[in-house]
Amino acid sequence: MTEKEQIQKHYSSLPDSQIIRLIMSEISELREEVYPVLLAEAQRRTLSQDIIDIVRSHSRHLSEYQFTELVTAYRQRPCPVCGKSEFLINALHLIIKNWYILFSVKKEKFILACKKCILQQLPQTLEFRTQIIKIEKDEPTPELLDYIRQNRGKIEKQLQSLS
Ligand SMILES: [Zn+2]
Repeated sequence: MTEKEQIQKHYSSLPDSQIIRLIMSEISELREEVYPVLLAEAQRRTLSQDIIDIVRSHSRHLSEYQFTELVTAYRQRPCPVCGKSEFLINALHLIIKNWYILFSVKKEKFILACKKCILQQLPQTLEFRTQIIKIEKDEPTPELLDYIRQNRGKIEKQLQSLS
């Protein structure tokens, strides 16, 4: 059995719910050669068109230029927090340490919002100086690029429904 056939066999043994979860949240971690197999499997099961479209857009190769265009278009969408289009969207992954008397609790937070909303949520302390500068510069952060890469299918779909 070839590797492709093994993957095929594995996918066909999974229930719909697992295939859907794979597509919705783990798709960006899959190897490129797996996409056609997954696409065929989603079509065979007649999953919803939205889900099939997500697999399809991940299986299309995206050049650096096309990716930059996608980032630019996505950043112009209204901010998911305040709903305004005044500032471009950016993202930041924050680790906030709260000190109690004997121990500290680390809280991780992913913020996807416009510059203004991110700055409002960022503690204005020296500890966060680098992040504050990063956001003030208004260039896409590595966190934003990762987010877009991972959610490419969903994002392309959102952008399409607008145009
Ligand atoms: Zn905002």
